[in-house]
Amino acid sequence: MKDRLLRSCDGKAAAPLLWEGFHRGRFEWPKKMVVNGALCTSCLLVSKAYEGTSRRAEMSEKTEMSGGCACGRVRFSVPVEDDDAYLCHCRMCQRATGSVSIAFRNVKAADVQWQCEPDWYESSPIAVRPYCRECGTSLGFKFREGSENMDLTVASFDDKSRFKPRHHFGAESIHRAWLNTEGLPEQRTDTYQKLVDKWVEATGSFPG
Ligand SMILES: [Zn+2]
Repeated sequence: MKDRLLRSCDGKAAAPLLWEGFHRGRFEWPKKMVVNGALCTSCLLVSKAYEGTSRRAEMSEKTEMSGGCACGRVRFSVPVEDDDAYLCHCRMCQRATGSVSIAFRNVKAADVQWQCEPDWYESSPIAVRPYCRECGTSLGFKFREGSENMDLTVASFDDKSRFKPRHHFGAESIHRAWLNTEGLPEQRTDTYQKLVDKWVEATGSFPG
């Protein structure tokens, strides 16, 4: 079984992390890793981010939610008080993310606590985008000036399930053939044997 390295805030390889353990909790921070103490050796803030995943802030309706990039180097937490999110279809976001649209949650920029800081790509004269230079995950969008808010990508949250799309933005670039895909044939990853075999061969198990 191969080991996967968790990266610390400064980008250096930190404690070894079992690939299996990481992907068993693919959509939430892996408990196994925290239990085993395999945390960022530089700052140990990964554990704090995990602890904040589902913790409800006392004396408040806000829920502290956490998230981060695919490799775990960049981590954030932010208070969230409703389920609102939206899809951006603008051509800039399509280019920046390589997706036909991108799901965003709008938050107050000052509310975002970066336990491990992202990199910032100057995507245009008016905006910057946080991302991870190690794994390439797109983490959001922010105007350079004139707004207290920023967007975080919905899928970078550890628990993305609560967010609901409330509106579309960048309507001029909507790729309508991809808007309503309900009813198309569906296949789970664990029924695609070639994929399962590759995982088992590489890591000893399938992370589903
Ligand atoms: Zn990363």
